[in-house]
Amino acid sequence: MYKCSLERMSDKIRTFAQFGDAGHGGITRYSLSKEANMARAEFKKRMEAIGAVVECDDVACMYATLPGSDPDAKRIVMGSHCDSVKNGGNYDGILGVMTAMEVLETVAAEGIPHKHPLTAMIWTNEEGSLYPPAMMVSGIICHDYLPESLKPNFLYENMMKSTPMDESEFATFGEALAASPYTGPKENRLSPDKYCAMFEAHLEQGPILEDAGNEIGAVQLVMGMFNYAIRFYGFSAHAGTFPMAKRHDALHACADFLCELHKKYDEYNKEVVAQGQPEFVFTTGEIQAHPCIHTVIPDEVYMSLDVRHPDPEVRKHCMEILKELAAKDWQQCKCEIKEQWVRDTVYFDERLVGFVEESMEEMGAKWQKILSGAGHDAQFCQYVIPTTMLFARTKDGLSHCEPEHVSDEDCTAVATATLNAVLKCDASPEF
Ligand SMILES: [Zn+2]
Repeated sequence: MYKCSLERMSDKIRTFAQFGDAGHGGITRYSLSKEANMARAEFKKRMEAIGAVVECDDVACMYATLPGSDPDAKRIVMGSHCDSVKNGGNYDGILGVMTAMEVLETVAAEGIPHKHPLTAMIWTNEEGSLYPPAMMVSGIICHDYLPESLKPNFLYENMMKSTPMDESEFATFGEALAASPYTGPKENRLSPDKYCAMFEAHLEQGPILEDAGNEIGAVQLVMGMFNYAIRFYGFSAHAGTFPMAKRHDALHACADFLCELHKKYDEYNKEVVAQGQPEFVFTTGEIQAHPCIHTVIPDEVYMSLDVRHPDPEVRKHCMEILKELAAKDWQQCKCEIKEQWVRDTVYFDERLVGFVEESMEEMGAKWQKILSGAGHDAQFCQYVIPTTMLFARTKDGLSHCEPEHVSDEDCTAVATATLNAVLKCDASPEF
């Protein structure tokens, strides 16, 4: 049982929080921005200081590697992203990078013997908040291994043409990449020839650990999901002159539909939970009314629907409820639904999950098994090499906002759990 350093971890947390500091407790650190380059320079400086060799690939991912005792062994990699959303917090992504650094720093400082080379990694553009989509670069690097349904979303040529959603000195992601001082040869990309296992530490981004009084969690899987576009079609007329009974008001239709959907889904969720399953989560985060003028009855309304649960049968039943409701009449409007994307549940490597759980137990940590509802680079990575994730308790369950917080102690606990899980993997004859 080795332990990471609270003092060294705290110092990293304070230092990285300066890069993109928005002045009220959080950061804006878009991928490939000046602020992200400051974080990358700090990563390079600290990793070279302990004797790690820093390499970059063609999409600006960074890899800092400490050699192991076996020259033929593949690398064990840890890492996450260093970009944030606009006005995000000091932990999302960078916690996994700081954890990887802390593991390497502890190994170097204490002279911990290990067979495999150990690599700390930064993924480029996970958030996709300046250049969409999210998980862009893991989508590029893991492209050949992705399910067929996901491949078209991450075509290299299309990703290079991604245009910024906010002010930027570059017209496309490709131009920003070409100007980055952190690019290198494509051969340096994470691949199964050179890497044998991946660990990503992340903040939970929800309240489950906190509510249970646990510090850290061993992530079992990333939930499957489906996303639908739902549209209602009526017709427009004057808000002041057209009688109520003759209206085909698409927004009223959408509002009724949404309430009924919640009712039906809440009822079904009770059944799901009664069967001993976790509840499914569902969200309408986008609504657009046309023509969106206060004197005009809306003729067309769009709403999104995002549903997540690990069990494909539960997702299938949710889809059936949706289809049943869509076939009904809503305020004399027609309802059309269209699948946007579907993603299967990604199960993390059982052996690595086992190493994480053993480590948490041996540390005497307050820990639990947990599921991920959010997407992460690790879920694409799992298609390529054995992968798993660890979660740290998130204050009030908040993330992607400035109050996002993980205590220094919990950050250090997740680093210690990662270190010991990595050492178990290193010692295992299976890797
Ligand atoms: Zn993240």
